Amino acid sequence: MTRAQLFFKAENFQRVGAFKFRGACNAIAQFTPEQRSRGVITFSSGNHAQAIALSARLMETPAVIVMPKDAPAIKLAATRDYGAEIVLYDRYTEDREAIGRKLAEARGLTLIPPYDHPHVMAGQGTAALELIREAGPLDVLVVCVGGGGLISGCATAAKHLLPKCRVIGVEPEAGNDVQRSLREGRIVHIDVPQTIADGAQTQHAGEHTFAVMRALVDDVVTVSDAQLVETMRFFAERMKTVVEPTGCLAAAAVMHGVIPVAAKRVGVIVSGGNIDLQRFSALLFPPA
Ligand SMILES: *Cc1c(COP(=O)(O)O)cnc(C)c1O
Repeated sequence: MTRAQLFFKAENFQRVGAFKFRGACNAIAQFTPEQRSRGVITFSSGNHAQAIALSARLMETPAVIVMPKDAPAIKLAATRDYGAEIVLYDRYTEDREAIGRKLAEARGLTLIPPYDHPHVMAGQGTAALELIREAGPLDVLVVCVGGGGLISGCATAAKHLLPKCRVIGVEPEAGNDVQRSLREGRIVHIDVPQTIADGAQTQHAGEHTFAVMRALVDDVVTVSDAQLVETMRFFAERMKTVVEPTGCLAAAAVMHGVIPVAAKRVGVIVSGGNIDLQRFSALLFPPA
């Protein structure tokens, strides 16, 4: 299809169904015994919440998760099942970061944000590290971008191991704040983008992630929601695997020719697979 060799890193098969387990685990593993006894808090649109909840349970530390009321049901249920305490908020009117900081201070919890944290970024980078160790040299590495935690870790690993490898980010068309930020040389803030890629509905990059992306990411491109749905269909029908819309960003850019890849060895991070079947089928077979 692409006249390239594609190597997929299937993080939809990762524990909790997305790469976020890597960063959450690494961040909590660095806690002091004092931090571990008080617990961890985070705010998240879903996958990071589950990752923190499971990592906290494995490392026997309490977890509080601030989640949007309209997060996918499967993500709310999974987070609760991992034993975390959930605090709900309205993502269109309330500021999750402010809520998180207030609770953290009141209860002495350590806040681990979804992307803008060095230990989180480093953990996410192990996805690229493993892919390169397994697949060998790559000419291009393609990674989806929300707040930039995954791509900044992956770019750090890739550029260290393969200095000539190009690292390309992919955002949803409606939420291209990082593309604009890199072009303008400052962190651009946008309204909550309307896209089916709920893992990439971030409004701005982080201080840490922006600095790393600016230094190491070669370009950021965008894809449409329709292209994401086509890619979900491809994964289901041809590759027999369920990928959530955000998880399709990198593959969609490659398969729709947004990134030229002919004759190249290309790493594609498939970032996650958490989508309930009802939403999955509604996206593939929209009601007339
Ligand atoms: C969080 C998430 C992203 C975006 O990752 P960032 O580190 O915020 O750039 C992409 N895909 C999935 C499945 C996610 O859960």
